[in-house]
Amino acid sequence: MPLTLNDPALWQTKGHINGAWTDATSGKTFAVLDPATGEHLADVPDMGASETRYAIESANTALPAWRARTAKDRANILRKWFDLCMAAQADLALLMTREQGKPLAEAAGEVAYGASFIEWFAEEGKRIYGDVIPSHGADKRIITVKQPIGVIAAITPWNFPMAMITRKCAPALAAGCTVVIKPAEDTPLTALALAELARRAGFPDGVINVVTASHGAEIGNELTGNPIVRKLSFTGSTQVGKLLMRQCSDTVKKVSLELGGNAPFIVFDDADLDEAVAGAIASKYRNAGQTCVCANRILVQDSVYDAFAEKLSHAVAKLRVGNGTEDGVTQGPLINTKAIEKVETLVADAVSKGAKAVLGGKREKPDSNFFTPTILTGVTADMRIFSEEIFGPVAPLFRFHDEDEAIRMANDTPFGLAAYFYARDIGRIWRVGEALEYGIVGINEGIISTEAAPFGGVKESGIGREGSKYGVDDFVEIKYMCLGGL
Ligand code: ADP
Repeated sequence: MPLTLNDPALWQTKGHINGAWTDATSGKTFAVLDPATGEHLADVPDMGASETRYAIESANTALPAWRARTAKDRANILRKWFDLCMAAQADLALLMTREQGKPLAEAAGEVAYGASFIEWFAEEGKRIYGDVIPSHGADKRIITVKQPIGVIAAITPWNFPMAMITRKCAPALAAGCTVVIKPAEDTPLTALALAELARRAGFPDGVINVVTASHGAEIGNELTGNPIVRKLSFTGSTQVGKLLMRQCSDTVKKVSLELGGNAPFIVFDDADLDEAVAGAIASKYRNAGQTCVCANRILVQDSVYDAFAEKLSHAVAKLRVGNGTEDGVTQGPLINTKAIEKVETLVADAVSKGAKAVLGGKREKPDSNFFTPTILTGVTADMRIFSEEIFGPVAPLFRFHDEDEAIRMANDTPFGLAAYFYARDIGRIWRVGEALEYGIVGINEGIISTEAAPFGGVKESGIGREGSKYGVDDFVEIKYMCLGGL
């Protein structure tokens, strides 16, 4: 074990199927690396279709007893899981920082955020009500009940190794579903520690299964092709999301997809610029720019463009890049070589077409995964950075003249996850808030994630909502019963 945990049993390096720590049948493993140092952390089973089938069958076997429990019973186990996660916050944060790179304070924040979904849905699970509907006939009654969908597959990304799992699994489990989780290949250790805590909380064998693999495709084929799985909940790239949606069509599975974004962050001339800068820092540079709601295009009105660029530069210059385990570091590494190469390509494209890097613009050191926090000015819509998700600490500043142009630019994308704008005029706030084709709009606010609010996108950013009172809806079916012959 290359790191010292208060609770060494949270160091788990095997898959978790039917309540047992499990190797790949082939005996194959893959390496988990620390993106800050390249250090080899662990070898984890490289599973495929057969282990996934076993996990699905285990989840199916566990389903009848789990869904038959009272909601309160399930809620008590979820609550225990929440308490155990919070008690293990420091260990989970360290695991996360080591395999994912985000600074420890941010990782601890994610543990609290991730756990909050468990707490929230433990409570919501007790309030999954049906209806009695006024009937169409005097001798009949119409009743609806909401029932768990069944076995759920959850495929999750590396940027939030804990929260993307709990945001899907907590509502599923609270509703009475059982789950098979496929965590991202870069960050399986947090997922496995979560499974250990779930075991201790009292989830029966087979209710929560974790299958690990170096590539998603084989497991994905089984999860989407197997008729036992009734729903897929996926967070990740748009490309893979579309593929999985196609694969789910053969068995007509329900899908929830949380895909890429291209968030505009609009600064109007009546904005409080200092607040806009603080919001831009929070939205753009969290997790080194690797969140799907990170500001991707900063659109600034002509008359405040230069002042905003200057204030933002002062603030960005104060960010501290380094290993996330060190005190005071605010910017960790990017997840891997592929990620940093993509950011370099986008910056090079913008600069070759006339953008200027007023800050950063390159790696901290050659061959490292650290990218210097960057501000690009003079960025225009013909540059790739206008239409592609950066997923790195680069703030491109676009210029606009009036409200109509800002809205047009903001909506000029197939994506529609999060958008942000800063303004004070109340008429403008309503107009722009309603005109933005996005699932989430932050108004004078750069951080919008909370378990209490519905998170999700429109257009090619996804289907469904996670968190909030709506989050359970994605995991239940409405059954209509007509009681006649009264
Ligand atoms: P990113 O580009 O952020 O890594 P991906 O969409 O590639 O996003 O990955 C998100 C999750 O999807 C990960 O768990 C990954 O292993 C999984 N994944 C990638 N390709 C496939 C696939 N063909 N089938 C199923 N899962 C996949």
